[in-house]
Amino acid sequence: MFQRILQELDITETKLIAVSKTKPIEAIQNIYNLGQRIFGENRVKEMVAKQEALPDDIEWHMIGHLQTNKVKYIAPFVSVIHSIDSLRLLVEVDKEARKSNRVIDCLLQFHIAEEDTKFGFELEEVAKILTTDLYLDMENIRIIGVMGMATFTEDEDQVRREFSYLKDIFNELQSKYFDQKPDFKEISMGMSGDFRIAVEEGSTMVRIGSLIFGKRV
Ligand SMILES: *Cc1c(COP(=O)(O)O)cnc(C)c1O
Repeated sequence: MFQRILQELDITETKLIAVSKTKPIEAIQNIYNLGQRIFGENRVKEMVAKQEALPDDIEWHMIGHLQTNKVKYIAPFVSVIHSIDSLRLLVEVDKEARKSNRVIDCLLQFHIAEEDTKFGFELEEVAKILTTDLYLDMENIRIIGVMGMATFTEDEDQVRREFSYLKDIFNELQSKYFDQKPDFKEISMGMSGDFRIAVEEGSTMVRIGSLIFGKRV
């Protein structure tokens, strides 16, 4: 299954984040041995433990809601944070990245689903943040794109509309605020159940867990 997903993504050069949350070290090592180097986790403690136990050339991506008081544990090594959902969190990541003498790549998470349980910004909030001095003075974060999760539904048209909306948000931010910044290029959308639609709608990073590792219990 892993190889088949890779082949599918290869055509469009979409990056695969193998979502290994709840899965044991050995399961990750197996996928690593097949060549995968990017893994996604949604809990800080779990990510830290796995990072310590697994090879150093793994890129760890934080994909779940991140509490500001836990940023310090992952700042020394995390590769990309997909789930920036407040200015406060961005400030904290910048601060902790500075302590580690790093620049951390971040994605702004948008609320695109119908369900209101999911975290994320609305466009107007972000537009405001991106023009503040507080943001403009940050030197230890780099915003490289956007992230979103579609509604969990069988309705493919709805899922497609939500992904397409995230792509619109990306385009708007790119033209207004990241015009001269080629690093702003990522759209993180698509999971096991909807990644094909996401790729068709312009995803550059898909986050796939259960299709690779099997169902989580
Ligand atoms: C768990 C998770 C995924 C992967 O979900 P699957 O359906 O197992 O592919 C992707 N993104 C986020 C934010 C997740 O929490």
